[in-house]
Amino acid sequence: MSVFRETSLILECPKCETINYLDPFTFWNFKGKIKCAGCEAVWAYELVNGTRTGPPAPAQGPHDKMPGYAQSKDWKSITDPAKVNKGPQAREDFQGKPIPITKSKRGKPVSGAPLKPEDLVGSRPKAFAK
Ligand SMILES: [Zn+2]
Repeated sequence: MSVFRETSLILECPKCETINYLDPFTFWNFKGKIKCAGCEAVWAYELVNGTRTGPPAPAQGPHDKMPGYAQSKDWKSITDPAKVNKGPQAREDFQGKPIPITKSKRGKPVSGAPLKPEDLVGSRPKAFAK
């Protein structure tokens, strides 16, 4: 018996003892089925404000979510994208670099995009040179 079993955002698999870390951003209020990253067993689990309502109960697939990160019994990390969730992104449409914009949310012109020589008047962007 490990102390991890009594904590809430850490789900220690009762079957294979893999430690599944449930990231607080997506699991803070959660009710559903979680797939263990170690043995792929599915567990019913409920969290209210980051506190579990009871120990994991065996359930049938399909699972709702996978843990954010997992660690095996001998402390090897499991980061296989087929077994753990991708980290939550601040912007779901983030592509790896900023999205060029020329207008703000309020419709005002902003300098948020690379400029080509034909967009310039002298050294000023056309949007600002009136
Ligand atoms: Zn397991």
